[in-house]
Amino acid sequence: MIPLPARYCALLVPIFVSLFAAESPPRPNILLIVADDLGYHDVGFQGGRDIPTPHLDRLAASGIRCTDGYVSYPVCSPSRAGILTGRYQQRFGYEFNPKWDATAATHGLPLSETTVADSLRSAGYTTGAIGKWHLGAHPQFHPNRRGFDEFFGFLGGGHRYLPGSIVEVEVGAGKKGTTSGDAEQASPLLRNTTAVPEVGELTTRLGEEAAAAVTRHARNAKPWFLYLAFNAPHTPLQAREDMLKKFSAIADARRRTYAAMVATVDEAVGRIVTALEATGQRERTLIFFISDNGGPMTKRNANASVNSPLHGQKGDVFEGGIRVPFLVSWPARIPAGRTYTQPVISLDILPTALAAAGATRAAALAPLDGTDLLPFLTGKNDSAPHARLFWRMDGGEAFAVREGQWKWLRTYQNAPQLFDLAADLGESRDLATARPEIAARLAAASAEWNRGLIAPAFGNNPFGGLINRTGLEKNSAP
Ligand code: CA
Repeated sequence: MIPLPARYCALLVPIFVSLFAAESPPRPNILLIVADDLGYHDVGFQGGRDIPTPHLDRLAASGIRCTDGYVSYPVCSPSRAGILTGRYQQRFGYEFNPKWDATAATHGLPLSETTVADSLRSAGYTTGAIGKWHLGAHPQFHPNRRGFDEFFGFLGGGHRYLPGSIVEVEVGAGKKGTTSGDAEQASPLLRNTTAVPEVGELTTRLGEEAAAAVTRHARNAKPWFLYLAFNAPHTPLQAREDMLKKFSAIADARRRTYAAMVATVDEAVGRIVTALEATGQRERTLIFFISDNGGPMTKRNANASVNSPLHGQKGDVFEGGIRVPFLVSWPARIPAGRTYTQPVISLDILPTALAAAGATRAAALAPLDGTDLLPFLTGKNDSAPHARLFWRMDGGEAFAVREGQWKWLRTYQNAPQLFDLAADLGESRDLATARPEIAARLAAASAEWNRGLIAPAFGNNPFGGLINRTGLEKNSAP
């Protein structure tokens, strides 16, 4: 080789560097933020006005807001099972909230399933979970055994926010008490498997833990994946005094506390984004933000949330139960300030994350239901990511299908209904009789999809069996 003069070498170095960068962009960090029981209308980027959420709004402006973003179930735990597996959770019998019981070996995410953390960890990511687990309290279901190197949080479905507070939970129709629900709310905070003292307001602390984690891992050669699952603004309605004072203009005490809780989530998100920026990681961090289900407005565990303009709430297959605030931000790859209107679902998060990471999933594993959204969000593919999305509740007590503008559903003992969401977002005008051919097509699609599901593997009935809620008041979803 003919030696090149030094000045030519100096010119070539940036070219080689840029070529290398073009072929092998650094793998992104991935941050998945889940809020709990957040109303569709209760953040600024969704049009809410009485609860300022500047940090979440800035996150939305840095990426894409999905107007028609869904979760795969309208209550907490099955929805989270879908998020972490990328599969309709009824395929593996996950259709109720599990018991909070360390001896219940069937109440949790089946060990046959692989989580997004398992796959990213195999691909060389450092993985962490912070906050609410709710995918089984038996030791075999612990986050450290489901792909997460690090865990800080609690294993149950909820937790008090203020240390030492007594939580009164609903134990039956119109009855309140402090039964096992209270013990769950006061369950130990864990760092991995070690109990640690409760200090300060919980949402604030989860945000601090997350900010510390992303700062700590900034120096590592490996990229990281962090699953940050807030339990806010799920009940109990508790908030910091300084946050409550900020909302003193809200007359309704429950809405005031809820607003303070949402604002605390927003503050925590701001703290994490600031940590990403301070450590130079923001551009190369892919962030998802969703709620695990719609806001519970009038039912058990109602939290004074608002889902307008949607109809229905948590526990419903109406839009208010399953359509949620849904953001995707990755400054290095995804355009900023856009709105995406094709239907997408939480099941898409796993394949999107794996594609972004260049990670593969073993071919022998059960197939995913989610789709990699990157080609759609970057404009490379302008078709719809999904021909249809499906829901089933309570072992078949309710079904729903979304196909383009059409939404078909059947709930409990009611006749099937059909809505045109393009003209009737509030699901107020049933077109099942007027458009029988569409109703029949979607009913048949629902039945066919249902044949790929199994019966619920566990129930939330305190007596151990599955709850058959046919004909019963359906207000029992925790
Ligand atoms: Ca929830």
